[in-house]
Amino acid sequence: MKFTKDQLERYSRMLALSDFSLKDQEALQRTTVTVVGAGGLGCPTLRLLTALGFGTVRIIDHDVVELSNLQRQTLYRVEDIGKPKAKAAADNLARLNPDVKFEPILDSINERNAVKLVEGSDIILDGLDTIAARHAVNRASVKLRIPYVYAGALEYYGNITTFIPERTGCLYCLLGTARDDPQRTCSTVGVTPVILNVIASIEVQEALLLATGKEPHLAGKLMYVDMRTLSIDSFEIHRNDACPVCSGNHQDGSEATKVSTSDEITVSALCTNSFNIIPPKNLSLDLESIGERLRVSHKVKVSGLFLSVELEEGITVTVMKKGTAVVKGVTDPDEALRLYKSVVEM
Ligand SMILES: [Zn+2]
Repeated sequence: MKFTKDQLERYSRMLALSDFSLKDQEALQRTTVTVVGAGGLGCPTLRLLTALGFGTVRIIDHDVVELSNLQRQTLYRVEDIGKPKAKAAADNLARLNPDVKFEPILDSINERNAVKLVEGSDIILDGLDTIAARHAVNRASVKLRIPYVYAGALEYYGNITTFIPERTGCLYCLLGTARDDPQRTCSTVGVTPVILNVIASIEVQEALLLATGKEPHLAGKLMYVDMRTLSIDSFEIHRNDACPVCSGNHQDGSEATKVSTSDEITVSALCTNSFNIIPPKNLSLDLESIGERLRVSHKVKVSGLFLSVELEEGITVTVMKKGTAVVKGVTDPDEALRLYKSVVEM
């Protein structure tokens, strides 16, 4: 693999490091890394991966940019509000490093699609905000034998570990059937951008080590960072020999992580008064004609990939062409489902 003069200049400060060679830079260029979630953790992670010159960066996110994101999700600009994050992230990152190939996927990762969405990647990095979605990623990681750097942050705290299938335990070994606590999300208890950047930096350091064939620091170790006291601790974690996900005992525990389903449509709670809706199959919606119907009485924005409609003040539904959607401004999942159905005419 030959680097151009510009590329050698671009990566010169990495190549000047005593333990980072041209071979390592080539290894990064050959690596496909998937970042699941382009929010608070995903944004700084994506920015670093792109700047470092990872070859292919896949970005999976179903959400749209909103004003309250901009305090920490600094990949986005005011003009990106209302756009799908995966697309806005890829567009903005391409301007940072045109060497990188981006694969934006406007979808919500879940038990049904996780394997398909992460297939072909060499490393999975966590930018998620629910345990349910992380369990889906974990199962795909174990099944496809792809290392998964798990990370999470809330308030001033964060934790992180690297799961390497067949070597370490997995997320289910660590968390078991723990569920999301709806009382503790970033919109209720807050999160500082500082902890997100610290945890994202550690994620990328693990990805650098994995991609260049070196030993990651956090395989079998959970690191805990507290920015309120500026303390960092880590402790060993172990494989659970009876784990239904990674021990070969194949009741895979997926029932424990499902939120709710109705008519095969999955409705799951997101961070702010909002819900993610996933239909059982690709609906291939005709967004233009839905837009025409709704435009009579509502404010509607249609781009090739998505449609966003304000049904009432503060209540918006954003639908992707394949039928997945985000309903914002409601507190009740049944109400979210009803609004979704009224938009797509189900
Ligand atoms: Zn396990």
